[in-house]
Amino acid sequence: MKSTNIRRKKKLRSMLFISFIICIALIIRIGYIEFVQGSELQSMAYMQQTLNRKINPRRGTIFDSTGENVLAVSASVETVTVNPGNIKKEDKEKVARALADIFNLDYEKVLKKVNRNSSIETIVKKVEKEHTDKLRIWMEQNNIAAGINIDEDTKRYYPYSNLASNVIGFTGSDNQGLEGIEAKYDNILQGKTGKILKLTDATGSDLGTEGEDYIEAVDGDDLILSIDMTIQSIAEKYLKQACIDNVCTDGGNILIANPKTGDILAMASYPNYDLNNPYKINDEDLSFVWDTLSSGDKSEALQQMWRNKAISDTYEPGSTFKLVTSSAALEEGITDTDNSGEFACTGSINIAGTRIKCWRYYRPHGGQSLRQALMNSCNPVFIGLRSKIRSRNLL
Ligand SMILES: [Zn+2]
Repeated sequence: MKSTNIRRKKKLRSMLFISFIICIALIIRIGYIEFVQGSELQSMAYMQQTLNRKINPRRGTIFDSTGENVLAVSASVETVTVNPGNIKKEDKEKVARALADIFNLDYEKVLKKVNRNSSIETIVKKVEKEHTDKLRIWMEQNNIAAGINIDEDTKRYYPYSNLASNVIGFTGSDNQGLEGIEAKYDNILQGKTGKILKLTDATGSDLGTEGEDYIEAVDGDDLILSIDMTIQSIAEKYLKQACIDNVCTDGGNILIANPKTGDILAMASYPNYDLNNPYKINDEDLSFVWDTLSSGDKSEALQQMWRNKAISDTYEPGSTFKLVTSSAALEEGITDTDNSGEFACTGSINIAGTRIKCWRYYRPHGGQSLRQALMNSCNPVFIGLRSKIRSRNLL
């Protein structure tokens, strides 16, 4: 009887000892997790529990001078991202396969992103809603919601494609202005990016509105140009015709300004390019050999195509200034348009000790009216006319 009691006591004591050891081990383990791994685990949990996604603002619209014709506009599209850590291991291949099929992407590349150890991966940018709706249906049918995000985004469209392309310019994949007006006035057009910061549970599902931070995007402002779409179209049409007819290998420009205000009503360049497809070269010969070019040559050719030659290249006004001299003389009543033989071209004229020739110095124009002199672009006549204006102290 006594010996069994002792045995029982012994058993109890050893049980207590084992429990004590286990307790100590647990306390050490908790201490280790809390104090040694604490901060690392906390940041891992934060990464898993929060989804930090950008909301792109709507970029401002660019109008022509009437305020009615839209030259550049942002339309709603959607961008798909994944949070790899929130997609269950057994679902990864399935998700990658669906994303690749719906958006026509390379399965291996998508799978790599889905398996990556990062908080967010972009799968596809700026797709039309009809495609993302397919994804929504697939997610519902397969009961997979966690880890796949479909966010609103915007895409730039240029309704008139080539019209005023060298003036307007275009935007990059992050809606930033890269060329022309789009780049110059980027800070006005771009707006402010918003943010969705959400707390989620271990599966990536939303934890209600608690812990949700939604910073709304601020849309960009609109721009109204002095360019009039109708005048611009006409200028481009005739510029193209003139360049083709006269085989202008360097292309050409037309600038049309309102003389009263100086507003630029049209700024046409030829050749121009398609704003909706700005990386497609407009030169036929180059496009044939495009794939064989080095990246440096490609970039140089594109820069050349995008450049707004009307403002970036220099050009001597030369004979175009004869219009100013003519207008001044007519306004002051110094001459008339058709006084036959009023001026004389002898092939050259001396002014300030320099002999300036007429382009047809070898067979001078002889007697000229103002109209004839303008038609013939005769230098001596206009130098003479300018002296006449000057003698009246008008210039
Ligand atoms: Zn002449």
